Amino acid sequence: MEKLNALSIDLEEWFHSELLGGQRPPLFQAPEATQQVLDLLDRYQTKGTFFIVGEVAERHPELVRLIFEKGHEIGCHGFSHHPLWKLDEDLFRQEMRRFHSVVEGILGKVVIKGFRAPCFSLDNRTKWALQTLVDFGYRYDASIFPVKLNPHYGVSGAPMRPYRISLTDVREEDPSSPLIEFPTPPLAIGKLKIPIAGGFYLRIFPLSFLHWGLKRINRHQPFLLYFHPWEGYAETPRLKLSFTNRLISYYGIHSALKKLEFLLNHFKFARVDQILGLR
Ligand SMILES: [Zn+2]
Repeated sequence: MEKLNALSIDLEEWFHSELLGGQRPPLFQAPEATQQVLDLLDRYQTKGTFFIVGEVAERHPELVRLIFEKGHEIGCHGFSHHPLWKLDEDLFRQEMRRFHSVVEGILGKVVIKGFRAPCFSLDNRTKWALQTLVDFGYRYDASIFPVKLNPHYGVSGAPMRPYRISLTDVREEDPSSPLIEFPTPPLAIGKLKIPIAGGFYLRIFPLSFLHWGLKRINRHQPFLLYFHPWEGYAETPRLKLSFTNRLISYYGIHSALKKLEFLLNHFKFARVDQILGLR
Protein backbone atom coordinates (compact mmCIF):
# COMPACT_ATOMS: atom_id res chain seq x y z
CA MET A 1 0.00 0.00 0.00
CA GLU A 2 1.17 3.49 -0.75
CA LYS A 3 2.61 5.29 2.28
CA LEU A 4 0.87 8.32 3.72
CA ASN A 5 3.23 11.26 4.26
CA ALA A 6 2.93 14.38 6.37
CA LEU A 7 2.37 17.72 4.65
CA SER A 8 3.29 20.89 6.52
CA ILE A 9 2.99 24.49 5.40
CA ASP A 10 4.85 27.15 7.40
CA LEU A 11 2.55 30.12 7.08
CA GLU A 12 4.68 33.22 7.40
CA GLU A 13 5.22 36.42 5.42
CA TRP A 14 7.91 36.61 2.75
CA PHE A 15 9.94 38.89 5.02
CA HIS A 16 10.07 36.55 8.02
CA SER A 17 13.13 34.64 6.77
CA GLU A 18 16.24 35.24 8.87
CA LEU A 19 18.26 35.44 5.65
CA LEU A 20 16.80 38.87 4.92
CA GLY A 21 18.70 40.22 7.92
CA GLY A 22 15.69 41.87 9.58
CA GLN A 23 14.54 43.88 6.53
CA ARG A 24 10.77 44.14 6.74
CA PRO A 25 9.26 46.34 4.04
CA PRO A 26 5.56 46.69 4.92
CA LEU A 27 4.16 44.61 2.09
CA PHE A 28 1.79 41.82 3.13
CA GLN A 29 1.21 38.96 0.71
CA ALA A 30 0.41 35.97 2.91
CA PRO A 31 -3.29 35.73 1.90
CA GLU A 32 -2.60 35.69 -1.87
CA ALA A 33 0.43 33.41 -1.58
CA THR A 34 -1.45 30.99 0.69
CA GLN A 35 -4.58 30.99 -1.46
CA GLN A 36 -2.58 29.38 -4.28
CA VAL A 37 -1.52 26.58 -1.95
CA LEU A 38 -5.07 26.12 -0.62
CA ASP A 39 -6.47 25.91 -4.16
CA LEU A 40 -3.86 23.30 -5.06
CA LEU A 41 -4.64 21.21 -1.98
CA ASP A 42 -8.37 21.45 -2.79
CA ARG A 43 -7.70 20.17 -6.30
CA TYR A 44 -5.92 17.13 -4.88
CA GLN A 45 -8.40 16.76 -1.99
CA THR A 46 -5.49 16.82 0.41
CA LYS A 47 -5.35 18.16 3.95
CA GLY A 48 -2.18 19.38 5.60
CA THR A 49 -0.90 21.10 8.72
CA PHE A 50 -0.44 24.87 8.67
CA PHE A 51 2.12 26.04 11.23
CA ILE A 52 1.06 29.67 11.50
CA VAL A 53 3.03 32.70 12.67
CA GLY A 54 0.94 34.61 15.26
CA GLU A 55 1.63 37.99 13.62
CA VAL A 56 0.18 36.69 10.35
CA ALA A 57 -2.91 35.34 12.15
CA GLU A 58 -3.41 38.69 13.90
CA ARG A 59 -3.30 40.60 10.61
CA HIS A 60 -5.31 38.10 8.56
CA PRO A 61 -7.90 36.39 10.81
CA GLU A 62 -10.04 35.51 7.77
CA LEU A 63 -7.16 33.46 6.36
CA VAL A 64 -6.88 31.41 9.57
CA ARG A 65 -10.66 30.84 9.54
CA LEU A 66 -10.52 29.70 5.91
CA ILE A 67 -7.70 27.22 6.55
CA PHE A 68 -9.51 25.83 9.58
CA GLU A 69 -12.85 25.55 7.80
CA LYS A 70 -11.24 23.63 4.94
CA GLY A 71 -10.23 20.94 7.44
CA HIS A 72 -6.51 21.60 7.67
CA GLU A 73 -4.72 21.32 10.98
CA ILE A 74 -3.76 24.59 12.72
CA GLY A 75 -0.31 24.49 14.31
CA CYS A 76 1.97 27.14 15.81
CA HIS A 77 5.07 28.66 14.19
CA GLY A 78 5.78 31.18 16.99
CA PHE A 79 4.30 34.65 17.33
CA SER A 80 7.00 36.92 15.85
CA HIS A 81 8.92 34.22 13.95
CA HIS A 82 12.00 34.92 16.07
CA PRO A 83 14.10 31.74 16.20
CA LEU A 84 14.32 30.22 19.68
CA TRP A 85 17.98 31.22 19.93
CA LYS A 86 16.86 34.88 19.95
CA LEU A 87 14.44 34.22 22.83
CA ASP A 88 14.66 32.81 26.33
CA GLU A 89 12.14 30.75 28.25
CA ASP A 90 10.20 33.79 29.52
CA LEU A 91 10.01 35.47 26.13
CA PHE A 92 8.97 32.19 24.52
CA ARG A 93 6.12 31.81 27.02
CA GLN A 94 4.99 35.35 26.23
CA GLU A 95 5.07 34.52 22.51
CA MET A 96 3.01 31.39 23.07
CA ARG A 97 0.45 33.25 25.20
CA ARG A 98 0.05 35.89 22.47
CA PHE A 99 -0.26 33.23 19.76
CA HIS A 100 -2.96 31.38 21.66
CA SER A 101 -4.89 34.50 22.54
CA VAL A 102 -4.93 35.61 18.87
CA VAL A 103 -5.98 32.18 17.56
CA GLU A 104 -8.66 31.79 20.25
CA GLY A 105 -9.97 35.23 19.32
CA ILE A 106 -10.44 33.95 15.75
CA LEU A 107 -11.48 30.31 16.17
CA GLY A 108 -12.62 30.10 19.79
CA LYS A 109 -11.19 27.33 21.95
CA VAL A 110 -9.40 24.96 19.59
CA VAL A 111 -6.85 22.34 20.52
CA ILE A 112 -3.46 23.11 19.02
CA LYS A 113 -1.34 20.00 19.01
CA GLY A 114 1.71 20.82 16.94
CA PHE A 115 4.58 23.30 16.99
CA ARG A 116 7.36 24.10 14.54
CA ALA A 117 10.12 26.40 15.74
CA PRO A 118 10.98 29.20 13.30
CA CYS A 119 14.14 28.25 11.37
CA PHE A 120 14.13 24.72 12.86
CA SER A 121 15.72 26.41 15.89
CA LEU A 122 15.13 23.61 18.40
CA ASP A 123 18.32 21.92 19.56
CA ASN A 124 20.02 21.31 22.90
CA ARG A 125 20.75 25.04 23.31
CA THR A 126 17.03 25.80 23.18
CA LYS A 127 15.57 22.60 24.66
CA TRP A 128 13.92 24.73 27.42
CA ALA A 129 11.17 25.32 24.84
CA LEU A 130 9.99 21.71 25.18
CA GLN A 131 8.65 22.12 28.74
CA THR A 132 6.75 25.23 27.62
CA LEU A 133 5.15 23.23 24.82
CA VAL A 134 4.10 20.55 27.32
CA ASP A 135 2.65 23.22 29.63
CA PHE A 136 0.60 24.64 26.74
CA GLY A 137 -0.80 21.17 26.04
CA TYR A 138 1.12 20.41 22.84
CA ARG A 139 1.27 16.80 21.72
CA TYR A 140 4.05 17.02 19.16
CA ASP A 141 6.90 19.12 17.87
CA ALA A 142 8.17 19.16 14.28
CA SER A 143 11.29 21.31 14.63
CA ILE A 144 14.21 18.90 14.57
CA PHE A 145 16.25 18.92 11.39
CA PRO A 146 18.49 15.89 11.83
CA VAL A 147 21.26 17.06 9.49
CA LYS A 148 23.81 19.73 10.38
CA LEU A 149 24.67 21.65 7.21
CA ASN A 150 23.90 25.14 8.38
CA PRO A 151 25.55 27.04 11.27
CA HIS A 152 22.14 28.01 12.66
CA TYR A 153 20.14 24.82 12.58
CA GLY A 154 20.39 21.06 12.42
CA VAL A 155 20.93 18.41 15.08
CA SER A 156 23.29 15.69 13.95
CA GLY A 157 22.70 12.40 15.68
CA ALA A 158 18.96 13.00 16.19
CA PRO A 159 16.61 10.19 15.19
CA MET A 160 15.17 10.47 11.69
CA ARG A 161 11.74 9.03 12.38
CA PRO A 162 9.06 10.09 14.90
CA TYR A 163 10.07 9.47 18.54
CA ARG A 164 9.10 10.45 22.07
CA ILE A 165 11.55 13.25 22.71
CA SER A 166 13.47 13.56 25.96
CA LEU A 167 12.98 17.00 27.52
CA THR A 168 16.62 17.02 28.62
CA ASP A 169 18.36 15.93 25.39
CA VAL A 170 16.59 16.43 22.07
CA ARG A 171 18.56 13.59 20.46
CA GLU A 172 17.35 11.05 23.00
CA GLU A 173 14.22 9.00 23.03
CA ASP A 174 12.23 8.85 26.27
CA PRO A 175 9.21 6.54 26.17
CA SER A 176 7.60 8.41 29.07
CA SER A 177 7.85 11.84 27.38
CA PRO A 178 4.53 13.61 26.77
CA LEU A 179 5.81 15.01 23.45
CA ILE A 180 6.32 13.27 20.13
CA GLU A 181 8.99 14.67 17.83
CA PHE A 182 8.50 14.40 14.06
CA PRO A 183 11.89 15.27 12.55
CA THR A 184 12.22 16.17 8.87
CA PRO A 185 13.84 13.00 7.55
CA PRO A 186 16.65 13.41 5.02
CA LEU A 187 17.53 10.98 2.29
CA ALA A 188 20.17 8.66 3.77
CA ILE A 189 22.59 6.95 1.41
CA GLY A 190 25.19 5.15 3.47
CA LYS A 191 26.67 7.80 5.75
CA LEU A 192 25.48 10.62 3.53
CA LYS A 193 22.34 12.48 4.63
CA ILE A 194 20.75 14.80 2.10
CA PRO A 195 17.80 17.01 3.10
CA ILE A 196 15.25 16.91 0.30
CA ALA A 197 11.77 17.20 1.80
CA GLY A 198 11.00 20.86 1.39
CA GLY A 199 11.99 24.51 1.24
CA PHE A 200 15.20 25.35 -0.60
CA TYR A 201 15.93 21.64 -1.18
CA LEU A 202 12.62 21.17 -2.94
CA ARG A 203 13.35 24.25 -5.08
CA ILE A 204 16.90 23.32 -6.04
CA PHE A 205 16.72 19.58 -6.73
CA PRO A 206 15.25 18.34 -10.03
CA LEU A 207 11.93 16.52 -9.87
CA SER A 208 13.42 13.19 -10.91
CA PHE A 209 15.81 13.27 -7.95
CA LEU A 210 13.08 14.38 -5.51
CA HIS A 211 10.82 11.59 -6.72
CA TRP A 212 13.55 8.96 -6.44
CA GLY A 213 14.74 10.18 -3.04
CA LEU A 214 11.30 10.51 -1.45
CA LYS A 215 10.29 7.05 -2.72
CA ARG A 216 13.46 5.74 -1.14
CA ILE A 217 12.55 7.33 2.23
CA ASN A 218 9.08 5.80 1.84
CA ARG A 219 10.55 2.31 1.74
CA HIS A 220 11.04 2.66 5.49
CA GLN A 221 8.95 5.52 6.80
CA PRO A 222 6.74 8.49 5.99
CA PHE A 223 8.46 11.76 5.15
CA LEU A 224 7.49 15.19 6.40
CA LEU A 225 7.33 17.77 3.63
CA TYR A 226 7.57 21.48 4.46
CA PHE A 227 6.65 24.37 2.19
CA HIS A 228 6.31 28.14 2.59
CA PRO A 229 3.57 29.94 0.61
CA TRP A 230 6.04 32.72 -0.38
CA GLU A 231 8.27 30.07 -1.99
CA GLY A 232 5.69 29.41 -4.65
CA TYR A 233 4.47 32.97 -5.19
CA ALA A 234 5.75 34.79 -8.27
CA GLU A 235 5.30 38.23 -6.66
CA THR A 236 7.58 37.53 -3.69
CA PRO A 237 9.86 40.62 -3.62
CA ARG A 238 13.52 39.93 -4.33
CA LEU A 239 15.67 41.97 -1.98
CA LYS A 240 19.36 42.76 -2.40
CA LEU A 241 21.17 40.00 -0.52
CA SER A 242 24.52 38.27 -0.55
CA PHE A 243 24.92 35.72 -3.34
CA THR A 244 24.35 32.72 -1.05
CA ASN A 245 21.35 34.21 0.75
CA ARG A 246 19.82 35.23 -2.57
CA LEU A 247 20.24 31.72 -3.91
CA ILE A 248 18.73 30.09 -0.81
CA SER A 249 15.88 32.59 -0.61
CA TYR A 250 14.83 32.94 -4.24
CA TYR A 251 16.11 30.06 -6.36
CA GLY A 252 13.28 28.24 -8.10
CA ILE A 253 10.35 30.31 -6.83
CA HIS A 254 8.81 30.28 -10.31
CA SER A 255 8.62 26.47 -10.36
CA ALA A 256 8.08 25.58 -6.68
CA LEU A 257 4.29 25.37 -6.85
CA LYS A 258 4.53 23.09 -9.91
CA LYS A 259 6.92 20.87 -7.96
CA LEU A 260 4.51 20.72 -5.06
CA GLU A 261 1.78 19.73 -7.51
CA PHE A 262 4.00 16.99 -8.94
CA LEU A 263 4.51 15.61 -5.42
CA LEU A 264 0.76 15.75 -4.74
CA ASN A 265 0.33 13.73 -7.92
CA HIS A 266 2.89 11.07 -7.01
CA PHE A 267 2.62 10.75 -3.22
CA LYS A 268 -0.18 10.61 -0.69
CA PHE A 269 -0.26 13.24 2.05
CA ALA A 270 -2.20 14.00 5.21
CA ARG A 271 -2.10 16.28 8.25
CA VAL A 272 0.79 15.74 10.65
CA ASP A 273 -1.55 14.87 13.56
CA GLN A 274 -3.14 12.18 11.42
CA ILE A 275 0.19 10.58 10.50
CA LEU A 276 1.11 10.55 14.21
CA GLY A 277 -2.23 8.96 15.18
CA LEU A 278 -3.27 12.00 17.25
CA ARG A 279 -6.45 12.76 15.40
ZN1 LIG B 1 9.42 29.94 9.26
